[in-house]
Amino acid sequence: MATYTVQAGDTLGKIAKKFYGDARRFSLIVSANLIANPDQLTVGEELIIPDVPTSASGEPAPAGMPSFAVTTAVAAASPTAKLNEQRLAQVHPLLAIRGRCMIELCAYTGIAVLVTQGLRSWEEQDALYAKGRTVPPIGKKHIVTKAKGGQSYHNFGLAFDIVVLDAVGKADWDVDHPGWEKAGELGKSVGLDWGGDWKSFKDLPHFQYTGGMTLEECRELFPSGLPAIWSEVS
Ligand SMILES: [Zn+2]
Repeated sequence: MATYTVQAGDTLGKIAKKFYGDARRFSLIVSANLIANPDQLTVGEELIIPDVPTSASGEPAPAGMPSFAVTTAVAAASPTAKLNEQRLAQVHPLLAIRGRCMIELCAYTGIAVLVTQGLRSWEEQDALYAKGRTVPPIGKKHIVTKAKGGQSYHNFGLAFDIVVLDAVGKADWDVDHPGWEKAGELGKSVGLDWGGDWKSFKDLPHFQYTGGMTLEECRELFPSGLPAIWSEVS
């Protein structure tokens, strides 16, 4: 990551061209600096120039800090981005900002992801737990979670799930799709925990940000409401 001081006559396109060789990459700078109006730069303003995420070839992801936010222009552009934003709006802001950052980094490596769910009620969690166990089809391969209600960070707005989209924007659940690994890597680079790293139950779609809270602590505070839990998350 580099920094750059805005000079007279600069535009984001020019700066993107200078650092990335491609003016179209200006949205990386927009998101890293929370720029509200990309047409209005202030001379002397210091900008963060994030590293360009590398392709899905396995090169290291940039170790960026989660100072990204979704660019409003991008969010408004596609139905996927709108859904992502709707779902991220329901989770803890510190998780949401990391999620937006991850999605943006994924986009720059050519991987489109859809956030399938963020916040999940205990009832929904119990229903999910029943899949493959008591709700047919029964069988290990139909089990989708090892967490009952109150045992998942989703229940406290501290997790979200994604799916990688194929070229026509359709969910691709193939576990061998390289996009999972790449998304996991990029998610971790912005401070998320990835379910793909779990030993007992690999949960490729799952990302969480616990902010130091254990599930037990979350459950204890739950009767006081989500804000009580969220205020403890740092
Ligand atoms: Zn999950």
